[in-house]
Order: sequence, then C-alpha cells, then structure tokens
Amino acid sequence: MLGKQGAGKGTQCVRLSHHYVIPHISTGDMLRAALKAGRSLGNKVGDAIASGELLADELVVSMVAERLEQDDTRRRGFVLDGFPRTIEQAKALRSLLAPADVDMAVNLTIPTAQVLKRLAGRRVCADCGANYHVTALPKVDWTCDVCGGEVVQREDDTEDAIRRRLGLYERETAPLIAWYEEHSRVMSISGVGSQDTVGARVIRAVDSYLRRRDRSVRK
Ligand code: AMP
Repeated sequence: MLGKQGAGKGTQCVRLSHHYVIPHISTGDMLRAALKAGRSLGNKVGDAIASGELLADELVVSMVAERLEQDDTRRRGFVLDGFPRTIEQAKALRSLLAPADVDMAVNLTIPTAQVLKRLAGRRVCADCGANYHVTALPKVDWTCDVCGGEVVQREDDTEDAIRRRLGLYERETAPLIAWYEEHSRVMSISGVGSQDTVGARVIRAVDSYLRRRDRSVRK
C-alpha cells in the first residue's frame, strides 16, 4: 500500500487484512513494537522514528525478510504497509519474493491539505495500530475497540515531523509509483471519504484484480 502519510494506509491495510484473512505487515508497527519491548535496533533508531526520518534500507529490509519467512505469509498472501518506501527497498523486496512478486501496488491518493488535518488529530492503538481521530475516538476511554490496547498520539505526529515526513515522501517514496508502474501494476484509489467508503473502493479494486488473475490461471 503506497500513499502519503495520512492517506489512510494503516486503516485500509487493517481492513484488507481482516477482509482477506491475511497478515498485515507494517514496518512502522514492527519498529514501534520492537522499541517498546526494549529490543536494541541500533543507535538513534528511536530518535529517527520520533523525528520522522527514514531508517537505513538494510535494517528495514532485514526485518521484512525475517517476517516473510514466517508461515502465515505463505498461505493466502499478505499486505505490506509502509514498506517499501524507497526504490532500493522495492528492489530488495523483489529479490526476496523472486520468482514471485507482489500482485499489485495500491496507491492511495489524498490532497496534502487534508493530510495535515488528519494527522494532527490522529490517535493510534499502540498494540495493533488501529487508527482513530480526536473526532472519532474508541468507545471506551483510550482503549482500542479492536484489541483493547492503549490508544495514543504518535510521537511523530507533530507539525515538524509531519512536514519532514511529507518531504521525504515526495523525494523517496513518490518515485516508487512510477517504478511499480514499470515493474508490476499500480491501482490508484482515492483516499478521500469515510473509512467505509474508501475501504469499499479498495476491496472492489482488489477483487476485480483477483477475478482477472484467477480467470487467466484457469485458461
Ligand atoms: P509508519 O508508521 O509507516 O509511518 O513508520 C514510522 C516511522 O518508522 C517512519 O517515519 C520511519 O522512521 C520508520 N520506517 C517505517 N517503515 C520504514 C521503511 N520502509 N523505511 C525506512 N524507515 C521506515
């Protein structure tokens, strides 16, 4: 799932993972969980995440490589969230999956003005990554509706860090869309609208791809 910060990638990836019963692999969630558990990730990784910088490709790629070794990724597929974020990472992912490849890249689009509004009010579950907003908090005080975890504001959802992350997105991640257009297939889907509306759009697009793929396999 590609798209700038605040496009709704996390929310839509959680929905896809429930809908298709596939693991949701989010590098951001994995990194935050590792930091919370006190695992050593090397110098200054915590600071880099809090200030919204990208981590070294090798670190993130090795983490994803280890995750993709687990059996649950081999049954019905998986959805990747926040990875790849650079062309180097996309190339590394390609080698990890070879001779197979990702089925598709979904590009969730949203105007930057809306992103700022969404991120400033965003709250997330520290355990499962489910997304909330100050205007739509969980039913019970700061307790995640999905898993019961604690709902918090992310350290990197400050104005400075948001600006840095959007800059990095334009420089490092946006070129991935052209890369995937060349090497795989990209479906651009508008991320504007309610979670349900956008979710229905994404699932319709994925289903239509799966139908086409299954028809061509049967032929
Ligand atoms: P996210 O939750 O996807 O926004 O990720 C939070 C932070 O984790 C990012 O701002 C980066 O500091 C780091 N991070 C997550 N995924 C990657 C990645 N694929 N490459 C480099 N850094 C990453």
